[in-house]
Amino acid sequence: MSGTTKVITAEEPTHFTRRENCRICRQASLHPFLQLGPMPLAGAFLRPQDAGTELAFPLTLAVCTGCREVQTIETVRRELLFKDYRFLASTTATLRNHFAALAGTLNERFLSPGELVVDIGANDGVLLKPLERLSVRAVGLEPAANIARVARAAGCHVIEEFLSPAAAGRLVEEYGPARVVTACNVFAHIDDMHEAVNAISVLLRPDGLFVCEVHYLPDLVETYQVDMMYHEHLMHHSLRPLAHLFATYGLEIFDVARIPIHCGSIRVYVQRKGSPRPEPRSPAVSQLLDLEIRLGLDLPSTFDAFAGQVLARRDRLRQLVLDLVERGRRVVGYGASGRATMHLNLCGLGPGAIPYVVDASPERQGRVVPGTRNPIVAPELFRADTADVALLFAYNYRSEVAAAEQEFLARGGRFLLPLPEPVLEPR
Ligand SMILES: [Zn+2]
Repeated sequence: MSGTTKVITAEEPTHFTRRENCRICRQASLHPFLQLGPMPLAGAFLRPQDAGTELAFPLTLAVCTGCREVQTIETVRRELLFKDYRFLASTTATLRNHFAALAGTLNERFLSPGELVVDIGANDGVLLKPLERLSVRAVGLEPAANIARVARAAGCHVIEEFLSPAAAGRLVEEYGPARVVTACNVFAHIDDMHEAVNAISVLLRPDGLFVCEVHYLPDLVETYQVDMMYHEHLMHHSLRPLAHLFATYGLEIFDVARIPIHCGSIRVYVQRKGSPRPEPRSPAVSQLLDLEIRLGLDLPSTFDAFAGQVLARRDRLRQLVLDLVERGRRVVGYGASGRATMHLNLCGLGPGAIPYVVDASPERQGRVVPGTRNPIVAPELFRADTADVALLFAYNYRSEVAAAEQEFLARGGRFLLPLPEPVLEPR
């Protein structure tokens, strides 16, 4: 945390609980490897007048020595995490295109006209909209009231609820069981994975398929993505623990694909064991399971080494920014995501070092980063400014940002990429 800001360190158990056992295999075999707290909630961008009211929590990463799932020990109450979530997926062209392509893939591979798709964590309808354009019946579950409103305003069918077996039962009563259930970037956020997979099983027809996208632990480890390890992400999945969890509920993974979204994710395809319309098992499943072993994800020492590497990178990034500022360079942030909150707080870089963070989402403009309180501004302000360096927190949208900020680059502006190695571009 920055020494210049005051943050309330939240008390347990009103605000959070600590896991004693693994969320997947339920064994009391968690090996902590990285302590990052106290940290504010990475997505809790707040109004300037509310600065000083943000909560901070301990943040401890652990790996289960039983099933190898990597997870956050502290579970912040989900009402605090997601009731006023400020991420609208449709504001990002990369995500719009990604979900339009996913809708096309699902339609081609699995869907007949009139069949139902249920999207869990539907956000602002970023997947529902392209599905509906393909004449697929699509219904979303979205617990964040402000986001569900945006989806409904765009004409999507959205039920404002958290995923649970009871909510799934109500949905099936109203719409019937689903041919396909999707959950993209949702599984990292769920504390009770057993309840979630049970609910998905309630939603599915006997020949129903579940397709999920999660950020992929091997990508996190290989590129030192500590900036994804915030409280909202309770788990960092790999294939082996997921397969174990699905098997508990009579489900099996039949296909998997690595996808570039969010700096490295996997799309996992799941069916019921004994489905009346079984899909063949792809060799990609065994290939990724083997890769996870080759990367040492079954060894706690791999994560102890990872912790040392990310802390060294944090120190180098902080020093690089402070050196630039000392030499009179104007350094601003670009992309007010959870990654920005993490880097700014881990490095203790307040508005004195980074006067603002640019973000295209109107939901975030006018707010400040929790903890360090850097103001969030519209891209127009950045374009009218004379910044020398943009610390690109949104390095996962690097080509999209470079295309939008050609003038900045043309007048000699440079991007500072925080990961996998802090570096200025062009060099
Ligand atoms: Zn486990």
